[in-house]
Amino acid sequence: MSDLINAFQMAQAQFDHVAKQLNMDPQVAEILRWPSREFKFEIPVRMDDGSIRLFFGYRVQHNDVRGPAKGGIRFHPSETLDTVRALAMWMTWKCAVADIPLGGGKGGVPVDPATLSVTEKEKLCRGWVGQMWRNIGPRQDVPAPDVGTTPQMMGWMMDEYSKLVGQYTPGVITGKPVGGGGSLGRTEATGFGAIFAVREAMKHLKIDPAKSVVAIQGFGNVSQYAAIGFNKLLGGTVACVSYWDRADRAAYTVSHPKGVDPKFLQSITDQYGSIDKEQARKAGYIIEEGDAWITKEADVLLPGALEGQINAESVKRVSSRVRIVAEGANGPTTPEADEVFKRNNIFVVPDFLCNAGGVTVSYFEGVQNDMNYYWTREEVLQRLDTKMTQAFNSVLEMSEGEKVFMRDAAYMVAINRVVKAMELRGWI
Ligand code: NAD
Repeated sequence: MSDLINAFQMAQAQFDHVAKQLNMDPQVAEILRWPSREFKFEIPVRMDDGSIRLFFGYRVQHNDVRGPAKGGIRFHPSETLDTVRALAMWMTWKCAVADIPLGGGKGGVPVDPATLSVTEKEKLCRGWVGQMWRNIGPRQDVPAPDVGTTPQMMGWMMDEYSKLVGQYTPGVITGKPVGGGGSLGRTEATGFGAIFAVREAMKHLKIDPAKSVVAIQGFGNVSQYAAIGFNKLLGGTVACVSYWDRADRAAYTVSHPKGVDPKFLQSITDQYGSIDKEQARKAGYIIEEGDAWITKEADVLLPGALEGQINAESVKRVSSRVRIVAEGANGPTTPEADEVFKRNNIFVVPDFLCNAGGVTVSYFEGVQNDMNYYWTREEVLQRLDTKMTQAFNSVLEMSEGEKVFMRDAAYMVAINRVVKAMELRGWI
C-alpha cells in the first residue's frame, strides 16, 4: 500500500481490512465505508480592514446509529474534505470503542487561526454555526474543539446557536469554557485519558511506569496533558516534546538530559502549542530542528500532533528500546509504519482508543448540561479513568481472543457495536 494515500483512503483501508476479518456483509460494509451526510458551505467574513474574505466550512456526519454525531471542528490551513471525512469515520469508532452513546462527525475550516484577529475569529465561528445550525443540535450532531479551535470559540458557537434557536442550549457543543457550560477536567481529558491507557498497557507488558521514559510529538492540548500525566500520574520521565514553529516554518524537538518539566514548558507555550525556544534555551533545554523526537531512547512514543507523522521513512529511525506507541493524535501512523510495528512486536495503543478521553469527557459535559448539575474535577477524572480502563481492557481481550493486533482489535470491538446498533434499529 502506498504511503501517498490520503487520510480518508487510509481510514477506509483500515476499515476494509477489519471488515474482511469480521466477514462482514459487503453491503453493510459499503454503508460504513462512506459518511452518512456531508456539508460544504461558504462563510464570508467582514475582516477588520473592511474587506470581505471567503472561507469554506465543512461538516461530515459519518454515522449516528448509536447516538448524535460527535466530533471536533478543526481550523488548519491544510484541512480538506477528505481529512474531515477520515476524522469523522474515526470518531464513529472512537465513540463506539469508548462505549459512549454517540456517533461520528467532524468539521473544519481551511484557515490558520493565528492569522486572524479575535473579532475575525469570532465572526468565522458564528458564521460556521449560521450555516450549520439546522443540522447540528444536542440530539443531532454535537461539535467540539480540535486542532486550532479553543474553548472560547466553542462558547461563541454555543451562543450563536442558542440565539438562532431561541433558547439556551449548552448541549449543542462541548469543550466550552468552565463557567460557560463546560466541564471541569475537559482540558486535560485527552492527554490524561491517553496516560490511563498507557498505564494499562504497561501493566499488561509488565513495565514499571516510574522507570519509564516517553518521547512526545507536539505540545498542544493533547501532548501537554499527556506529558503532565506521564510525570504526575505515572511518575515517569518525559524525554522530549516537539512543536511546529509558525515563524520559522519548521518543527523543533525540545529535550532535557534530566527529562523535561512539562509544567515549565507549558508556561512558555502559546495557545497554538508553540514553545518560546529562547526561554527554553535559557532554562537549559536542548532545541533540535526537525523530528528528533522519534529517535529518542524511550519506552513509549506518543505522537500527539497531526496525522501521517510516523511513516515508511521516519519509522526506520525509531529506537529499539520502544515498546509502546500510544497514538495521542488521530492517524499518526501510516499503514506501512504500522506493519513495521507489527513485525517488531511493538504494542500500539491505537488512536481512537488512546485519545478517546476527550470525547468521553465531552460526553460527560453533555450529560452535565442535560442535568444542569456539574461534577467536581475529581469525579470527572475518576469516571474518565473507569471508561478508559474498560475500553482498553475490552480491546486487549479482543486482541488476545482473536490473536490480532490492538488496532484491528479496537476496530473489531467498535465495528461490532456499531453493526449491532444498526441491527437493533432495523437499518440492516
Ligand atoms: P493543538 O493544536 O492544541 O496542538 C498541536 C500541536 O502539534 C502543537 O504543539 C503544534 O505545534 C504541534 N505540531 C504541529 N505540527 C507539528 C510537526 N510537524 N512536528 C511537531 N509538532 C507539530 O492540537 P491538539 O488538540 O493537541 O490535537 C493534536 C492531535 O490530537 C490531533 O490529531 C487531534 O485531532 C487529536 N485529538 C485531539 C483531541 C482534543 O481533545 N484536543 C481529542 C482527540 C484527538
